[in-house]
Amino acid sequence: MLFGVVTKPDDDWWIGRNTPDIDHLNKLESLMFQGNGYFGIRSSVEEHYMEEKRDMFVLGTFDKYEDEATELPNLPDIVNFEIKVDGHVLKLNHGQVSNFQRSFNIRNGEMTRSFIWKFEGNEYKLKFRRFVSMAHLHLFVSKVEITPLANNVRIQIKSGIDGQQTNEGTQHLIEGTKRLFNARFIQMQTRTQESKVKFALTEYHRLYLNKKELSLNPHLKLNRRQVYANYSVDLDKEQTLSVVKYANIYTSKDRDLKINVSADSLANLKKISRLSYASLMLESSEVWNKKYWNKSYVEISAHNNKPQIAINFARYQLIANTPHDFEMNIGAKGMTGEGYKGHTFWDTEMFMLPYFIFTLPQKAYELLEYRYLGLIGAKRKAHQGGFHGAQYPWEAAMPEDAESAPIWGNADIVTGQPMKILSGFLEQHVTGDVAYGVMRYLKATGDQSFANRMGYEIILQCAKFWASRVEWNNEKNRYEITDVIGPDEYKEHVSNDAFTNYIAHWCMEYGADIIAKLRQENTTIYDQLNQKLSLSELFKALIQKASMMYVPKPNDDQIIPQDDNYLSYKIKDVTKYKNAEKDVEDVSEIFKDFDLKQLDRMQVTKQPDVLLMMLCFEELFSKEVIQKNWDYYEPKTTHDSSLSYSPHAILANDLGLYDKAFEYFEKSCQVDLGMNMDSSVKGTHMAAMGGIWNVIVEGFGGVRVVPEGLRIQPHIPDTWTSLKFMINWRGAKVRIHVTHDNFSILSNKKLQFINYGQNYQIEPQEKMEIPLKK
Ligand code: BGC
Ligand code: BGC
Repeated sequence: MLFGVVTKPDDDWWIGRNTPDIDHLNKLESLMFQGNGYFGIRSSVEEHYMEEKRDMFVLGTFDKYEDEATELPNLPDIVNFEIKVDGHVLKLNHGQVSNFQRSFNIRNGEMTRSFIWKFEGNEYKLKFRRFVSMAHLHLFVSKVEITPLANNVRIQIKSGIDGQQTNEGTQHLIEGTKRLFNARFIQMQTRTQESKVKFALTEYHRLYLNKKELSLNPHLKLNRRQVYANYSVDLDKEQTLSVVKYANIYTSKDRDLKINVSADSLANLKKISRLSYASLMLESSEVWNKKYWNKSYVEISAHNNKPQIAINFARYQLIANTPHDFEMNIGAKGMTGEGYKGHTFWDTEMFMLPYFIFTLPQKAYELLEYRYLGLIGAKRKAHQGGFHGAQYPWEAAMPEDAESAPIWGNADIVTGQPMKILSGFLEQHVTGDVAYGVMRYLKATGDQSFANRMGYEIILQCAKFWASRVEWNNEKNRYEITDVIGPDEYKEHVSNDAFTNYIAHWCMEYGADIIAKLRQENTTIYDQLNQKLSLSELFKALIQKASMMYVPKPNDDQIIPQDDNYLSYKIKDVTKYKNAEKDVEDVSEIFKDFDLKQLDRMQVTKQPDVLLMMLCFEELFSKEVIQKNWDYYEPKTTHDSSLSYSPHAILANDLGLYDKAFEYFEKSCQVDLGMNMDSSVKGTHMAAMGGIWNVIVEGFGGVRVVPEGLRIQPHIPDTWTSLKFMINWRGAKVRIHVTHDNFSILSNKKLQFINYGQNYQIEPQEKMEIPLKK
């Protein structure tokens, strides 16, 4: 596994770099992202560089500028910290830098940076550290230490709140109020232009000379959209000046607001800033441990600790980006960058949800509750398209919004005209994916109260949409779905996309099953849902449409056509583009040679469609058919999306293609941590993070939600000696330990599971060992 960061063989929670990387700032800003599910900050360094991309977001504060798509506004910067030594601004591209180390503690999200800076005959030792608190949702704290090593010097500091940030040029915030409280606390108040979300940001600095606190009031400097505190301190050689910056942010959307954003922000900071950096850091680390790391584990014994670092990193990123509030969801890039504007995709249900279902079921519940609230927007979207039920948006922002996908994208390489983005209109499978996510959650948790209050309604509204969406083909005597985009986004306006048709068909059948079951077993819930959905009519429609629905079956060569036309297109050797790394502009290699119209007519696939469908509905196919389709589609897939690797890894492991499985696993781990310094610049890839966990637990660990319940059929890579992990299954905590010979399973409650067709049941605390099938 090749990483673009330095790691330590004896520390599974540490990544770093030994050079300042001024040319690759954006990559590290994303990788070392700090967040707590309320707000998140890219790890831009304190001093300014041309190449930097500062971003800070608070979840759920979407704003829409004119006819652009709604997005999370980039908030005023609070990490800036300018140091002047004898009038010269510290910058690492001037002078000489030695002993440089930047590191990130994956366990608690603390970033540190230290170096010696030599400039005009003097030498300075510097150390920066900072974190976003898990214990106090609104809080960011940083600490800077400066020691002149050779001469006495005057240090000037400028640190404050800088509202001159934009989202690639769009300024979402109005010029608000800037002021000083109690001579020491600086504050900026502002609000978004369209959604009128109010913000208050407050900052306070404490300064220490050789650990003794100085009583200094700042000199205030106000610019347009900026407020800074300035300090000046004379240091003797080898004296250390430490500055602790406390900053917080409040918004008018906060549920914990007491008076108003300004008063709350100030009161909170006054209270918290009495505590030291170290004690606040400790408090935050304890929350990380208690709420997250101690609740589940994944431990890999392997030839080196890179797989372990990758899974720790993935879990950190997932947690730091998971909303604290059910009205929000995880963006495709979380809060780690402006890519995809903070929008939520099918990525959540299909790629991230398993991690939450199995390790933090309460979070899985909240992520799905967001979709329940989203029924408002989804019903509107269905209605706008002339359909019934609920049609989830391809890109979702606030739950009440209908579609949030942008409409215009990059210029076409042939015509030079901006290309219309059709995903928001045509990529409809998400409405099946959400229902599929609910099904997996219900199966794995047995959470009947969620089912009754929200889950069934989501599924039935989705099923109702599909029943209104499918089209009758008189000639062929079947229902079809024409004019969509499937997961393979290279193909637009396709008919009978395999993934879409299968998930739509499944959703209608599942909806019918639920209605039948409720009618028998729970008339109260049946009656409630009946009022909203006219169940007997819906039942009839679902049964009739599902039974007459076309789901593409294997042809004479055992291949399932990806859509009606795919197999008739010319085959193109895509080796050149496979795994090609995206450049800074995020333009895939293949788009430098072909435009979408040309790709539309080739047997080239962006990411798995038929193969992903087979992973979801594996019980419908023989192993031979799955293998045949793997042989057919895998070579034609460019993996032009980071979502592509993990399903390939899992499927390869299922098929016994162990080398391929490991290769795809490594690729999943390298999506962000890998050597390509131009990837991740607009944020990390949250679905790929979920994918890392999926490959380890669902793939190598063999844990799968199947129609009959829980199936466990592990097989670990050759280079590993063991894999241990814990999952939650219907309230039980289940510990699984896999080696090359067997796997053992221990649960704190009675547990049933399936292994190669055989049912097992274990009693609480009864450890069972099952030999692996060779
Ligand atoms: C993605 C689509 C998305 C569009 C606009 C494309 O790169 O592939 O899924 O809808 O960007 O955000
Ligand atoms: C992928 C989509 C995905 C989106 C956001 C696109 O490149 O093709 O499947 O939902 O990115 O991650």
